[in-house]
Amino acid sequence: MSLNRVPIEPPPHDPHAAAQEVNWEDFRDHLTTADKQGHRRWLYPKKPSGRWYRWRTAVSWLLLAVLFAGPFIRIDGNPLLLLNIVERRFSIFGQIFWPQDAVIFSVAMLLFLTSIIIFTTAFGRLWCGWTCPQTLLMEMVFRKIEYAIEGDAVEQRALRQAPWTTGKILKKAAKHVIFFGLSFVIGNTLLSYIIGSEPLFRITTDNPLEHLTGLAFMILFTLVFYAIFARFREQACTFICPYGRFQSTMIDENTMVVAYDHKRGERHGHLHRDQTHEERQASGLGDCIDCRQCVAVCPTGIDIRNGTQMECVNCTACIDACDAVMDKIRRPLGLIRYASLNSIERGEPFKFTSRLASYLVVICGLAAVLAVLVFTRADTQTTLLRTPGALFQRTPDGKIANLYALKVINKTTRDLPIELRLESTEGKVRVMGAEKFVVLKEKLAQTSVLIELDPSVLRGGNAKLKIGVYSEGKLIETVDTVFVGPRSSSG
Ligand code: SF4
Ligand code: SF4
Repeated sequence: MSLNRVPIEPPPHDPHAAAQEVNWEDFRDHLTTADKQGHRRWLYPKKPSGRWYRWRTAVSWLLLAVLFAGPFIRIDGNPLLLLNIVERRFSIFGQIFWPQDAVIFSVAMLLFLTSIIIFTTAFGRLWCGWTCPQTLLMEMVFRKIEYAIEGDAVEQRALRQAPWTTGKILKKAAKHVIFFGLSFVIGNTLLSYIIGSEPLFRITTDNPLEHLTGLAFMILFTLVFYAIFARFREQACTFICPYGRFQSTMIDENTMVVAYDHKRGERHGHLHRDQTHEERQASGLGDCIDCRQCVAVCPTGIDIRNGTQMECVNCTACIDACDAVMDKIRRPLGLIRYASLNSIERGEPFKFTSRLASYLVVICGLAAVLAVLVFTRADTQTTLLRTPGALFQRTPDGKIANLYALKVINKTTRDLPIELRLESTEGKVRVMGAEKFVVLKEKLAQTSVLIELDPSVLRGGNAKLKIGVYSEGKLIETVDTVFVGPRSSSG
């Protein structure tokens, strides 16, 4: 269960060892959230406070504001973020993407995965502690509500063991009603990321019978989020999230993680009031006074002194807790800090390894490809193919004509009047049907097109044509096609 476990040996002669609640090897054998029989051990993490927590709170509010406003923020009329998997329509930073943009998606996914790898290799699970919506909502929203209603860890424990009085019922009911309401808001936010904010609005205002599927998902998402935040909690990170599982393949001894400085802290042992620091050192004890404050605040219930573990989400709560203790006993801060194993073992500063460099090269390459693909992406996707089975025709004025099937996908959120122009040679292009060929927003339109050329422009009976696709006089795309005619102009 542990990753890069630091080589801390149990202190066989430490008089406090027997009294310690944690068995030295116990953490390897079972999760902190389960007892030996596999039953859930409910965690009551102490309310964190300190420098890192203040930073994390500020970052969290910012990210949560973006998360909840995301589906409602518009750029050029498009949502900031929309992942409509049902209709296969996606909007990222206001740019609409279609299934036809699969190449862009593949490159973006590769870039995303490589970025996660390089980021985790360099900075561990920074994502989990600082930006993951699960952690942000659990620690910064639901946990804070719980502290406000039920009090800190000690009061929460006491409340759990207390008999069911009116006060306890009221507190529990208030907490769960708020949790359910918040889960409803989160569920609807997720739904609006999938179907868009307008359809969500329609589901909530129209006759419910017209939106049974939408309502079913609304209820399902609400129940799932309520179950996660009210009951499942930190187990989502430990059991379900795949990132926590595969991080062990990405971190190494140079990765910056929340780490305990075992060289400075061990052997740990309680602080004796009259003992000076020199006397403590002389007795073989390190700076860790075994107060277990770092364990008390940990939302996943682990003891960071056992080394980097799969459950650690790098939330920094233990750094703050330990810094407060170090401050009180007048020892330097940072017994638990952001550090790599190498920096703790050998005092090496952060190293830009060749592994990191190679990941970075891949990221830069992928980012460049993605930028080119996005910036050269046209508002339309046009195909112009000769109508199968149709040969060329001669017009009364001696020209050669070919019939084509035209298909245009409008990727924008506005209707586009489309006009075709021959770019590579002289000739006429006529779009058949209505006078103006307009492709409605986010739709595909098809029609027939007749192209007429003077036989003199044909070489060996055919010509390669470049056609410009224009909208309101602006060239938005060029397509290539082939024109066929008689082998000789007299033929
Ligand atoms: S060990 Fe520290 S950083 Fe890791 S989850 Fe626990 S409190 Fe957060
Ligand atoms: S908070 Fe610091 S001093 Fe206290 S047990 Fe944890 S590491 Fe040791």
